Amino acid sequence: MKLLNIGNRCFKQFRFQRQRFASTSVHYKPGDIIHDYQVKQVEDVPEFSMTAVLLHHKVTGSEHLHLARDDKNNVFNVSLRTTPMNSTGVAHVLEHVALCGSERFPVRDPFFKMLDRSMSTFMNAMTGSDYTMYPFSTQNQSDFRNLMSVYLDSVFFPRIKKLDFLQEGWRLEHEKNDDKTSPIVFKGVVFNEMKGVMADPSYLYGTTLLSKLLPDHTYGVCSGGDPAHIPNLTWEDLKQFHASHYHPSNARFITYGDMKLDDHLQIINDKVMKKFTIIDPGTAVPLQPKWDQPRSHIMHCAPNEMAANPDKQTTYSKSYLLHEVSDIFETFSASVISTLLIDGPTSPFYRNLIESGIGSDYSPMTGYHSHQKEATFSVGLQGIRDGDVTKVDQLIQDTFMEAVKNGFSKERIEAILHRVELQYKHQSSRFGLGLTFSLMPVWQHDTDPVNSLKMEEIVKKFRQKIDSEEKFLQKKCEEYFVNNKHHLNLIMTPDPGYKVSLEKSEEEQLQSMLGKLSEEDKSQVYKEGLELSNVQQQVEDISCLPTLHVDDIPRKQQNYGLIVQRINNSLPLITCSQPTNGVSYFNAVLPVNGLNEDLKMFLPLFCDVFTQMGTHLTDYASFSQREDLFTGGLSASVTSSCCHNDPMTSETSVRLSSHCLERNLEQMFQLWTELFNEVNLNDATRLQTLIRQRAQELANGVAFSGHMFAMASAAMNLAPSAGYSEKFGGLTQVNLMKTVADSNDIDDVIMKLNQIASYMLRINEHDVPRFALHATPSALSPTMTSLEKFVDNIKHADVGGNSQNEFITQHKATYCEQDETDFRSRVKWNHFKDSIPKSTRTLHQLPLPVNFASMCIPTYAPYSHTDNPTLRILGRLMSTKFLHKHIREMGGAYGGGAKQGEDGIFRFYSYRDPNNVKTIEAFHGGVKWVQDGGFTQQEIDEAKLAVFQSVDSPVSPCHRGLNVFHSAVYDVTRQLHGERLLDVTKEQIVEASDKYLNKPESTSVVIIGPPDDVITSSQDWDVKVTS
Ligand SMILES: [Zn+2]
Repeated sequence: MKLLNIGNRCFKQFRFQRQRFASTSVHYKPGDIIHDYQVKQVEDVPEFSMTAVLLHHKVTGSEHLHLARDDKNNVFNVSLRTTPMNSTGVAHVLEHVALCGSERFPVRDPFFKMLDRSMSTFMNAMTGSDYTMYPFSTQNQSDFRNLMSVYLDSVFFPRIKKLDFLQEGWRLEHEKNDDKTSPIVFKGVVFNEMKGVMADPSYLYGTTLLSKLLPDHTYGVCSGGDPAHIPNLTWEDLKQFHASHYHPSNARFITYGDMKLDDHLQIINDKVMKKFTIIDPGTAVPLQPKWDQPRSHIMHCAPNEMAANPDKQTTYSKSYLLHEVSDIFETFSASVISTLLIDGPTSPFYRNLIESGIGSDYSPMTGYHSHQKEATFSVGLQGIRDGDVTKVDQLIQDTFMEAVKNGFSKERIEAILHRVELQYKHQSSRFGLGLTFSLMPVWQHDTDPVNSLKMEEIVKKFRQKIDSEEKFLQKKCEEYFVNNKHHLNLIMTPDPGYKVSLEKSEEEQLQSMLGKLSEEDKSQVYKEGLELSNVQQQVEDISCLPTLHVDDIPRKQQNYGLIVQRINNSLPLITCSQPTNGVSYFNAVLPVNGLNEDLKMFLPLFCDVFTQMGTHLTDYASFSQREDLFTGGLSASVTSSCCHNDPMTSETSVRLSSHCLERNLEQMFQLWTELFNEVNLNDATRLQTLIRQRAQELANGVAFSGHMFAMASAAMNLAPSAGYSEKFGGLTQVNLMKTVADSNDIDDVIMKLNQIASYMLRINEHDVPRFALHATPSALSPTMTSLEKFVDNIKHADVGGNSQNEFITQHKATYCEQDETDFRSRVKWNHFKDSIPKSTRTLHQLPLPVNFASMCIPTYAPYSHTDNPTLRILGRLMSTKFLHKHIREMGGAYGGGAKQGEDGIFRFYSYRDPNNVKTIEAFHGGVKWVQDGGFTQQEIDEAKLAVFQSVDSPVSPCHRGLNVFHSAVYDVTRQLHGERLLDVTKEQIVEASDKYLNKPESTSVVIIGPPDDVITSSQDWDVKVTS
């Protein structure tokens, strides 16, 4: 369902994390035979408290890696090496169609349906440039078996029906499928998905870069599918591709967690392996022949209307082909070198490129990538003037020369190795999944998956190497970059005619195809269109699919032992002692309700720059170095949320967080103290660099997550917290940053940031800060001592007299109690007057090829309201049983749904949608569908299971209890909410839809998308053009 985003920057290759768990005992030894599998290797991986077992299926040659670890969140992941040789998107379409029904489960979309019959903590399918993988995770044993049986059958025995190919891939169909006189157009889920994806210039740049740097085999084509080539794909091609690629001999399996390997193997062997023999899939990727001369390529994209300066929209980078990823040590070394070169303000590329002011940010794909057979490194700038390409090229070459000549400081290398250590000690709730995601891409190319897990050994070897071999890193830089002829210079410039020329060539392609159709073919197109929509509307019997039951959901929710206390006699503190693996976590909430409204708009910028500007004592580069040496980074963000029982309240606050190894506690709090007391926001050049980066990032985000922007915009007038959320992260913020980046008045910005600092970084009685600490039991006390020292050392607001003391006296009595009202009383909610918002319809017109639609209705039923759980279940039910069908299957959008928010707003959305007004009609249709009550108890139960996937999802130790801390939602409230979710009835759902979702007078609709004549000519719509 998801294309692996290859456009992302990838600084941190070794993002492994570990938990201190006793390894589940494993008794296998090499040579053992288990269900036709032979054990090849058994190794302990102490840094992750894990045992790895590698096996080989004796008949089919299929490979299996089991990672035994005392973790309940078990993972299954099967991957196939998929190496298409054209850009028809065959691998991507197959990933979709495989999930459209299989031999044992002959129902449409068993995958989507299982989302509602399971308690999975993750389910997805992904297509990369040379592999496709199908992962899931769950904490429940029967669920694991259920999901595994559906996954195995979908992958190895899909039906691949013609109609599924037409629906998911591409088809010719009448615009209105039941109207023969309407024009015939291209439709199809992947076709539209890729039109949307290609509209994202970062993706376009990344995929072009890969195809030009490694042109001679599978990387030379677009594995996701180029809309210009997708219509060349036939149903026959698809079946053929399945037969040759989705075979056990071409498959790699990973299982992870505390469930038994024996059971997994038995199922896989019985259900799949026994039905196959061995083949030679011939999918190995050959090495790219090396060039003896660098190459250059020029490409175009649509201009970005959200970007600050229209004259600076060119992107330029140099990309290098490096070594084979099967060399684990080389991969580690190269990833360290990449980090040294580009990451953070002390790195040479940051200083020479970013701070040159020539561009706005690094080019997409900057960094080291080891997701193909051979690794690559890329560096460049986006947001530059057309004429500056040569200048950037020279800077890049000079910087490599500088690195070869000067090498890197010992301190920076140490900081990076510290970061590696911290990363594998820091635990996430998705540890197992993350591990399989890092292993799958390299394992496709015969990398030893077991040895690549042994981080401590690799780091040790690396240390020895740099100690024993003089200039090791410099020599590597020379080899990789200075003497490497296999490199690509890639330029992307905006072309105002880009979108029109894409449309024109799509139209020409369409006309040429239509020209070849006989009358008989045309009536076939009409017939298939009707047939498809008939099939889509049929109600199916899905009882063949396995399912969990509502009874399987635990009624009692997990509680965590939180202690609420005060620090330095005044400020609220929550402590939580957890098995954090020797890492201590600090969180702070600094409310800023009292800040003036104009300044609040600059809070997101403030948070972005606050930790990156350095202080009056330490310049920003040295400060950043200290951050890396002692912590996992200091971060700040702004949020606005409402109190869980009153949607007309809001708390706007800045959240700070950081973590460090226990041995670095003092240093971590020293860094915060220095920032609070001495932050330097006056460096105009530094600030402008950060503003340019931020404006570019925001402008790039709209094409990728337009549905978030549409929802934020539609909700903004319905509740105060939603209003702030839009201002902080919606189109309003994108436009503000565009103006700021474009303006010459940096002094005004500096003044505003200083005003925010002088309000926020003082302890004042109006907006009282609160803190949270998570640490191991033995580290909790020293962590508290360090925090106390920090609080002692930061300045207090100068509001005259002894206001702080008064504050303490006033609140002293209640601070040590641990009930909910107590803590809630300390969160100071801003209350807003209730007013009924007007109904609005707005089109934000942008040069996008697809729409993002949203409709929002205020229900005033926030998290702890009796009807919130009913509306949550309703939203899920409507999404899967109605909206999915009308917006995705019939409408051709990539996705769509509805959900009730904790702030009491009911939000509809569509994602990468060819329709606009029709989708709004589908939203209304969804409400009517619920009111008519045409759903069953089984369907309600499925919605409950699906909702509980997030309610009951595993929480990593460092996040336990943060809901109390952030939004004062206590365990009692959470427990009650959970019980109400479980007890929702059909009557309640129908009643809630009547009561809450019929509000034509205050329904707000927003579409972000291309110009539309119907909308523009309508009186009901407000059209906003971004210029
Ligand atoms: Zn897809």
